[in-house]
Amino acid sequence: MILIVGGAGYIGSHINKELNKQGYKTVIFDSLVKGHKEAVKWGDFFQGDLGNIEDIRGIFKKYPIEAVLHFAAFIEVGESVKDPQKYYQNNVKNTLNLFQVMLENDVKKIIFSSTAATFGNPQYVPIDEKHPQMPINPYGQAKLMVEKILADYDLAYGLKYVALRYFNACGADLDGEIGENHNPESHLIPLILDAALGKREDIKIFGTDYPTVDGTCIRDYVHVNDLAQAHILALKKLMDGGESDCFNLGNGSGFSVKQVIEVAKKVTGVDFKVTEVERRAGDPPELIADSKKAREILKWEPKYFDLKTIISSAWNWHKQLNKSD
Ligand code: UDP
Repeated sequence: MILIVGGAGYIGSHINKELNKQGYKTVIFDSLVKGHKEAVKWGDFFQGDLGNIEDIRGIFKKYPIEAVLHFAAFIEVGESVKDPQKYYQNNVKNTLNLFQVMLENDVKKIIFSSTAATFGNPQYVPIDEKHPQMPINPYGQAKLMVEKILADYDLAYGLKYVALRYFNACGADLDGEIGENHNPESHLIPLILDAALGKREDIKIFGTDYPTVDGTCIRDYVHVNDLAQAHILALKKLMDGGESDCFNLGNGSGFSVKQVIEVAKKVTGVDFKVTEVERRAGDPPELIADSKKAREILKWEPKYFDLKTIISSAWNWHKQLNKSD
């Protein structure tokens, strides 16, 4: 049985679907503070909070858990700057509860959702695993702390982990069964799609004076189904007795905010309003992953790297989601 902590959320729900498709048995642990019960369409469900260690003990008692995938975390960078306590408590302290109960039950395999935000402002791109990790906000800091804690736990207790550092996760399940639904939404693609649906007046471009081709920020957009494959490959590696490791996950090519908007206009067929505004604090001009290591060691092969496919999958889901609002 594979435990997916935070499996009712965006990325966790896609991995849950893929694991079930490949024959794994899963159980989802989620507080539903951010996750959606309707996203748990496969496996068992157990509502609980990582802040309450007895909840975690409860699920480990009920199910024969062999390995854990941990997605549960707050993810808003701006909020983490304003309220770091919320981030350190949930993303670090509550995560320690999970590790404690894993060790109590002798479960020593975990895939941890990390982030490109652990690198901070890039010193060079594409960013490989050797790039210094100097986060510039509490969100990235908290994720890096957990990576370091995992390294210590491996040395001391033999807890084997794979930390996967996502660049810009995006897109939705190609069958349209699940997708991205954050509240509040702060990510570029869903916000653009809201503008296309007329749910917001415009899409704001945060900064047009960056040192990039068209002055807007460049990001590495990686489809959530590709991320799902990387998780399963990482899980297999640990199940086969593999050592702990960290991988950067992205497509290795960047798109600017203006390029994303242009493709979204084509995909949706809507000429929504675009407004240029000031830069958003803390946005590096360019973030691109070097995922050679994941390709070589995990044999990861991302498939959905073209923007049109990514945005079309998100659009299919987004239209459907808003129909039922
Ligand atoms: N962005 C934007 N307008 C928005 C939201 C995001 O111009 O309404 C830009 C943001 O400045 C960044 C890129 O889009 O350069 C991706 O932002 P997102 O929040 O999706 O992901 P992040 O890169 O912050 O993880």
